[in-house]
Amino acid sequence: MDKVLLSGDFLLYPKKVPLQVLLTNKNLTIKNKLTKGAPEVISLADVIGCHVLQGNKTTSAQWYLCIFFYPLKKKVFKGYSRCRSTKSLGIACCDSDSENKSLAEKWKKAIKFITAGNNMTEDQTDCIPEIEQRHFVVYINPFSGRGKAMQIYKDHVKHVFCEAEIKSTVVKTEYAGHACKLAKEIELGKYDGIIIVSGDGLVHEVINGLMDRVDWEQAIKTPLGIVPGGSGNALAASIVYASTGRSWSENPIYDSVFEIVKFSTRDLSLVYTKSEKGNFYSFLNFAWGFIADVDIESEKYRAIGDVRFTLGCLVRTFNLRKYQGTLSYIPDHDSHIWKIFEKKHVCKHKVVASLQESSEEDESQLETRHREKNEKHVDTTVNARSLPMVEADSANPTTSDLSCPPYLQHEQITNSLSNDWQYLEGEFVWVSAIYLSHLGKDMFMMPHAKCGGDTIYLYCLKSTVSRARLLQVLLSIKDGNHLELVEQDTLVIPCKAFRLEPLSKHTGYMAVDGELIPYGPVQASVTAIKAKVICSVGNDSVV
Ligand code: ADP
Ligand code: MG
Repeated sequence: MDKVLLSGDFLLYPKKVPLQVLLTNKNLTIKNKLTKGAPEVISLADVIGCHVLQGNKTTSAQWYLCIFFYPLKKKVFKGYSRCRSTKSLGIACCDSDSENKSLAEKWKKAIKFITAGNNMTEDQTDCIPEIEQRHFVVYINPFSGRGKAMQIYKDHVKHVFCEAEIKSTVVKTEYAGHACKLAKEIELGKYDGIIIVSGDGLVHEVINGLMDRVDWEQAIKTPLGIVPGGSGNALAASIVYASTGRSWSENPIYDSVFEIVKFSTRDLSLVYTKSEKGNFYSFLNFAWGFIADVDIESEKYRAIGDVRFTLGCLVRTFNLRKYQGTLSYIPDHDSHIWKIFEKKHVCKHKVVASLQESSEEDESQLETRHREKNEKHVDTTVNARSLPMVEADSANPTTSDLSCPPYLQHEQITNSLSNDWQYLEGEFVWVSAIYLSHLGKDMFMMPHAKCGGDTIYLYCLKSTVSRARLLQVLLSIKDGNHLELVEQDTLVIPCKAFRLEPLSKHTGYMAVDGELIPYGPVQASVTAIKAKVICSVGNDSVV
């Protein structure tokens, strides 16, 4: 049994039932003094706020403690839902009005102190430290999803922030690229974090805006919160999974706002990406083939929300395209899943040249062919944008180490690759590089991927895959069971860096973090740079 820190007599609103309430570092226990039934226990982990409210002539007490909590409740048939609950406790045990008020304020301070993640000692109960009010800037994209982001803010986020006594400054984005500019120019010291009500595209912009600042090393540590207002909400789903070990509940908006008001932080690894668009950072994925086509082509069904992806998948499955290319990568042998997929013979340590089972070239021939191909590589001009990326010849080794891993410090996208790279060449249906657990609401794409992890997971389907198999994969992604289907025509490769060179002419699309990029060679590597995402269970604490 936890130590009781505060104990008091209250009256339950509105029925005036007399109660005994106990506060520990874990729970608020409410016992009905008139019955012998089990007490109600509110976990402080579910509590997001606590207000002191004044009663009136019709109420049984002059002062009330109103507690706001959002527990995960089991649904009757399947799943969970994060639900809003309140409890109003009247204080009438003291003689004077002012004593009742200060008692209510003492309880409020204690509850806020503990729910902010602190452990309270018995000595602190007489002088409880005050928790400072947080102030967020909130970027809302009116174009994202079904165009309801502003409504989501007004109907849900604003109220929860009010209950948690969080101050917010709202900025509506006015055009594509605006959030990048805002993040580049914002006076960060004024805010405790940036909240994004949109999809992954706006997060991508904010991250790149922060990385484009002179003070990027500090700026990228700004806590970022995400409320799913887009049609692709992979980061929001991945954060909830990282905190709770569950996919979204039936109420994703409350899930994400709950993560934000709890205000711990977790690392989010950034992947440095070079493409014909220039150089930038990505946090979610790279997609080519089936999945990118679905993402981009379904833009026209934006009005139907995330159902657009289901529809897009059906359209593409029946008009299956094939994509030829070379996928090179630096294997991550240290990844804990390397052995799992190696056993399934899909992840080969040796250089493999063709995805066609009929390939009879031996290893040395393949290596020679690979070397020749790289030497002859056409010099595709990459329009490199100036980012805070410090090049290999930098005078500052610390920043250089941080931003770009050694194996990519000298690599231009057109350079030939060193021996530690392996490659696959052939015909694919689907090529993804995944950095987070979820790619969307119902896409539990890579359960092994961790927010702050340093592994890129390549997931590819060869062109030999049948439509029936593809449908089976698509239907299994919701629960992550598609990884059980890994066999001959499916590949899962943990790696540190990859390069994709499409061989076929412009077939389909390429996308990074759900945003279209120009069709052409792409190279990406995981960096040591970590952004910070706000969540209920963090892997580090905010200073
Ligand atoms: P979704 O998940 O619905 O695609 P995103 O957050 O990815 O939502 O945003 C989609 C796109 O909207 C991004 O490319 C972003 O740059 C763009 N955008 C942001 N603000 C506006 C605006 N006011 N008008 C049009 N596009 C915008
Ligand atoms: Mg998007």
